[in-house]
Amino acid sequence: MPPAFYTRLIPTPLPAPYVVAVSEPAAALIGLTPEQLADSTDILIGNAVPERALPLSAVYSGHQFGVWAGQLGDGRAILLGEVATAEGPMELQWKGAGLTPYSRMGDGRAVLRSSIREFLCSEAMHALGIPTSRALSVAGSDQGVVRETIETSAVVIRMAPSFVRFGSFEHWFYRNKPEELKILADYVIERFYPELRAEDNPYVGLLREVTRRTAHMIAHWQAVGFMHGVMNTDNMSILGLTLDYGPFGFMEAFDPDHICNHTDQQGRYSYTNQPQVGHWNCYALGQALLPLIGEVEAAQAALDVYQPAFAAKLDELLHAKLGLTPLEQHADADRALFDAMFALMQANGVDFTLFFRRLGGLRAADAGGDEPLRDLFIDRPAFDAWAGQYRARLQAQASDDTARQLAMNKINPKYVLRNYLAQVAIEKAQNKDFSEVERLLAVLRRPYDEQPEHDHYAALPPDWASHLEVSCSS
Ligand code: AMP
Ligand code: MG
Repeated sequence: MPPAFYTRLIPTPLPAPYVVAVSEPAAALIGLTPEQLADSTDILIGNAVPERALPLSAVYSGHQFGVWAGQLGDGRAILLGEVATAEGPMELQWKGAGLTPYSRMGDGRAVLRSSIREFLCSEAMHALGIPTSRALSVAGSDQGVVRETIETSAVVIRMAPSFVRFGSFEHWFYRNKPEELKILADYVIERFYPELRAEDNPYVGLLREVTRRTAHMIAHWQAVGFMHGVMNTDNMSILGLTLDYGPFGFMEAFDPDHICNHTDQQGRYSYTNQPQVGHWNCYALGQALLPLIGEVEAAQAALDVYQPAFAAKLDELLHAKLGLTPLEQHADADRALFDAMFALMQANGVDFTLFFRRLGGLRAADAGGDEPLRDLFIDRPAFDAWAGQYRARLQAQASDDTARQLAMNKINPKYVLRNYLAQVAIEKAQNKDFSEVERLLAVLRRPYDEQPEHDHYAALPPDWASHLEVSCSS
C-alpha cells in the first residue's frame, strides 16, 4: 500500500513489563508455544520488535454515534506484522503500545482493566463460534495512565486477517481521493474476497458480501445476547468480524433496551438497536464505495441483502436455540412463540444465558423437567402458559428429549463473560494475581460444556455487580 495509508513507527517502551496472560490456541495458530510467548515479554509489551518486522499504524476515519468524526486512525494500535497460519495470513497488532500520529487527544495507552476484557472476550467469542478478532496476549506495566482514576498500562496483542474497517473506506471517500479508495478496495478484494473478481462489478460484490457478513455477525450477537457498545463505523470490520472490544456486555436480566455502554446515553447501541445500526453502518460503507460502484441502484441492491440475511440467520439461530426444526407450516406460529418468549423474559427480568441453557431441560411430554427454568420467573402461570405452547410445538415435531437437549447445549452457552466475572479477574490482576484471568479463560474456552466443577461461573451476578458500569474509557 502507498505511504498515504499508514505511518511506520515503533512502540513506545514501558518500564518493567510482566506477562498477564497468553492464549494457548492463539499462540499455536502462529506456531508458538505459550512458554515461548511467556519468554517474550519485551515483544509482548512492545519494548522489542521482532526481527524483520516493520511496524506501522494505519489511518482511517469514521462516523461516531451517527456523526461524521473525520480522521481517526490507529491511535494506540501498531501493526507488528503478518504471520502465515493454517487459517491463512494473520495480522498481529499491539494495542496500547504508545502514541501514534493518529492519537489525537489520547495517550496511546490502554489500561489493564480494558485489556483483560478485550483479551478474554475475543477468545470467548471465538469459542462461541462468533466471527471475531483473536487475542494472543496481555502484558502489563505499572506505569500509570490517567482515566477517571489513575490505572496501570497494558498491551494486548490481537490478531485478525485484516484490521481494515468501514472507516478506512470512508476516509478516502470524504477526502475525495478516488484513486486511494480504489487501491484499498482492490487490495481487500484481492486478498479477502478473490471470488468477486469474476463479477461484472466487484465493488458491488464487495458491498453485498460485507453487508451479508455484517448481518450474520449481528444475528449471532443477538442470539447470544452480546452487545458491542460502540458500533461506530471505525469499529466495523470489512471482514465481518467482531472488532474493538470496549464497553461490551452480555445480556443478563433480559431487557431489549439495555445499554451496555454508560457513555451511550441515547441508547443508540442498545441491544435492540444493534441490527438496524449494523444496516446503517453498511449504508455508510455503501456511500464511501459509491464512486467505485457508479450507480446508486446497484449499491442499494447490495444493501438490500441486509434485512433478509439478518432475519434468516436470526431465525435459524432461534430455532436451534429452542431445539426446533424450522418448518414452513409453523413459520408464523414460531415467530409468535419467539415474541411471546422474549416478552415474558423481559416482563420477568429473566437472565438471558440461564434461560436458554435451562430451556434444554424441558420435557416434550410433561412439565416434569420445568422446575429449574420455571424458578427464574416471578409470574409462574405466564411461564406455564408459554411452556405449554412450546411443548405442543415440540410434540408436533416428535422431538426426542435427550437428543434435543444435547443439540441445544451446543448452541446455548452455559458460560459467557459476564461483567462481574471479568471484574473479579481484573481486581485480582490489579493486585498481581493473574490466576483468575487464566481460570476464566479456560472456562470460557469451552462455553457449551457442562464443566460442573465450574458451576459458579454460570451463576447470576451477585448484588454488588448491579452497580457495575462500563464506559468508553479504556
Ligand atoms: P474506540 O472508540 O476505542 O474505537 O476509539 C476511537 C478512536 O480513538 C480510535 O481511532 C482509537 O485509536 C482512538 N483512541 C481511543 N483511545 C485512545 C487512546 N488512549 N490514545 C489514543 N487514541 C485512542
Ligand atoms: Mg476503535
